[in-house]
Amino acid sequence: MRVGNTVATALAGLWLLAVALPVLAEEPAAPAAPKLAAKDGPKAKPQPEARKLFGAKQEPAPLEARAIGFYSRGCLAGAKPIAIDGPAWQAMRLSRNRNWGHPNLVALVQRLAVDAKAKDGWRGLLVGDMSQPRGGPMLTGHASHQVGLDADIWLTEMPDRRMTRREREDMSAVSMLGSDGVLVDPKVFTPAHARLIRRAASYPEVERVLVHPGIKKALCEDPASDKASLAKIRPFWGHHYHMHVRIGCPPGNDLCKAQPPATADDGCGKEVDTWIALLRRPKPPPDPEKKPPRPRPQLTLDQLPAECRLVLETPAAPAAAGRPPAQKGASRDK
Ligand SMILES: [Zn+2]
Repeated sequence: MRVGNTVATALAGLWLLAVALPVLAEEPAAPAAPKLAAKDGPKAKPQPEARKLFGAKQEPAPLEARAIGFYSRGCLAGAKPIAIDGPAWQAMRLSRNRNWGHPNLVALVQRLAVDAKAKDGWRGLLVGDMSQPRGGPMLTGHASHQVGLDADIWLTEMPDRRMTRREREDMSAVSMLGSDGVLVDPKVFTPAHARLIRRAASYPEVERVLVHPGIKKALCEDPASDKASLAKIRPFWGHHYHMHVRIGCPPGNDLCKAQPPATADDGCGKEVDTWIALLRRPKPPPDPEKKPPRPRPQLTLDQLPAECRLVLETPAAPAAAGRPPAQKGASRDK
């Protein structure tokens, strides 16, 4: 395909935007660890990665429920699990043990499930990753999901039967995108999908719903969409198999760091079109000289709020020994 000068100039501008856009989406990556000063070099002990400490915890910290820190730099006290089966939901990938959240998030997901079934023609939710039992960074995936206020909801409705644990591991998620990998396939992305996403955004507690730019574009063009929901539904990389629902800091959680509120802008003009153009840009040819980027330094415990040390070190409640098998020995599945 021939690329004209005008297009080339536009693409050059888009490369710059590529750097800026993830900031717009407000799913900040984990911040880089500060470099140790040279004088500290020989003495400073390498700190263990926070993701290893939090990833090893199988049980919640039996403390008052609190989201501590920011979505991408924090932890969770007093987490509650969402039931693996509810009247209108099933939790997925149980071996990951990530079906934990602040009680407000658990309540919100349950409410969304029941409302979507009753009002949107959606049989029930498949609930993906929420948080680890004590929140914190994860060994794999997700810069956010650390404080128990984020939940991934599949864009596939649950089957009309209870799935086995094995099926919940093996079932493949379905992409909403068409063959161009940019816009949705209308045969896959239906009005019921649009209603589900808008339903999630409609709750006052929900501050963001992250979806693929192609899904955002489809919602922008849907006359059934309202401006207030669209303002919370934000485009982001990935998110064409699932949406990411984020609630705000629970009232009274003083240590929870809020994100900026959504503005009145529905994001349907230049913003979504810029994303779409970015996704359509031709990939630069591979440069054999280029070195692979260095892996990003991982967060250490010292870089999380000080209260996260207490969350990590508080012994699990004795009753946890009798917890449902959904949590127990979960890692054996994988
Ligand atoms: Zn997510």
